[in-house]
Amino acid sequence: MRPYPTLFILFVIICLTSTGVKAQTDQALTREIFKELIEINTTNSTGNSTEAAEAMARRLKAAGFDAKDIFVGGPDEKSGNLVATLRGSGKRKPLLLLAHLDVVEALREDWSTDPFKFEEIDGFYYARGSRDDKAMAAIFVANLIRMKKEKFTPDRDIILALTDDEESGDSNGVAWLLANHKQLIDSQYALNEGGGGQEIDGKKVLNAVQLSEKVYQSFQLEVKNRGGHSSQPRKDNAIYRLAHSLDNLAKFDFPINLNEGTKVFFERSSKLETGQLSEDMKSIITASPDPESIKRLSVYPNYNAMLRTTCVATLINGGHADNALPQTATATINCRILPGEDPVKIKETIISVLGDNSISVTEKNPAKLSPPSPLDAEVFGPIEKITTQMWNVPVVPTMSTGATDGVHLRNAGIPTYGVSGLFADITDVRAHGRDERIGVKAFYEGQEFLYQLVKELSSKTKIDRKK
Ligand SMILES: [Zn+2]
Repeated sequence: MRPYPTLFILFVIICLTSTGVKAQTDQALTREIFKELIEINTTNSTGNSTEAAEAMARRLKAAGFDAKDIFVGGPDEKSGNLVATLRGSGKRKPLLLLAHLDVVEALREDWSTDPFKFEEIDGFYYARGSRDDKAMAAIFVANLIRMKKEKFTPDRDIILALTDDEESGDSNGVAWLLANHKQLIDSQYALNEGGGGQEIDGKKVLNAVQLSEKVYQSFQLEVKNRGGHSSQPRKDNAIYRLAHSLDNLAKFDFPINLNEGTKVFFERSSKLETGQLSEDMKSIITASPDPESIKRLSVYPNYNAMLRTTCVATLINGGHADNALPQTATATINCRILPGEDPVKIKETIISVLGDNSISVTEKNPAKLSPPSPLDAEVFGPIEKITTQMWNVPVVPTMSTGATDGVHLRNAGIPTYGVSGLFADITDVRAHGRDERIGVKAFYEGQEFLYQLVKELSSKTKIDRKK
């Protein structure tokens, strides 16, 4: 099932050619903002996100934003968040642009460059946060300034939220804003990190849009035994029982369960692949998938993770001495539950698969549910149109097997789309790692993409034409 009719694409292409918006982005200003953001250390250990939030607030005020439309606040001195609003005509509920200010730790000695210095080398910007997530943060600020300069009046408020503690720490900015100032960021839907353009060998392949995230849930397994002297072993050994049960789990697969987004993912991906893999992807989205196709696709860890809930043993512990029968054996199994599936049911399934009633199974963390965002044509139409126009590659909806701040927004009833138009080679992922970087050209193209997308999503005239 396609998310929008072909006729609609034709319509939007006609709309685009008739608008002729060609205002130039001020790349020098964007670069300056990006550099400023990067050179403010926002790590959890020694950084200060309030400084970054205030720096961006100053930029927006200087560009003409009213002080009452700018908010900086957080749970403590160093965990500041910025919320700024470009006022619209209020015809529709606001659009939220979300990016996080905090970055993962980085050690100078691990890097080829200083991770907290903005460096341009051979067509790349290097620094911690250059990709995750200060590129989007800087772009959103620069684009709002551009819109302000152009005196653009959107048909809805455009709210920018730059927040703290996405990566680590216990002062998550989105959760704090939702709990304390929900009215500031309440919106119809949000754009966030989690998507992006994918390149292989310098060739652009697709523009990924994240619609959903799997739910993280770990369980602690524990077997108790009276123990004893290892010279007189008994068959009810705690380690053997745990090992036997884990083996049952290793052989088990949860049933496949595709949602609206993952179906389109496999449908689009089948066109980018060839041969058996392509055929298997086509089969998997039919009403009665070929069991052999499921088997073959499940061999790929990334496709397997898209098809079903997964639970895997990640930690194991047991015994207390070389010469004693173990009194305790424990294991952690980490589950990534499909959005929409019930963690309670998953736990019941695990207990029955383990097949040993003496093993206790307890949750190690509360599951944060995250309903998938709908494949809304109002959002996907413009994403597809601009992607086609700029790069002529397909838009592919994805489900992240990790997590972003989208989980908080989706839980609060704000559908969230991970979309950036920032392209990078899929074999060269450096976010969270050493020498993090973003292509200079990719950065400004992403800026233009997000500018056009936000404008499109907040211009009533174009939406009217669609009807
Ligand atoms: Zn991030």
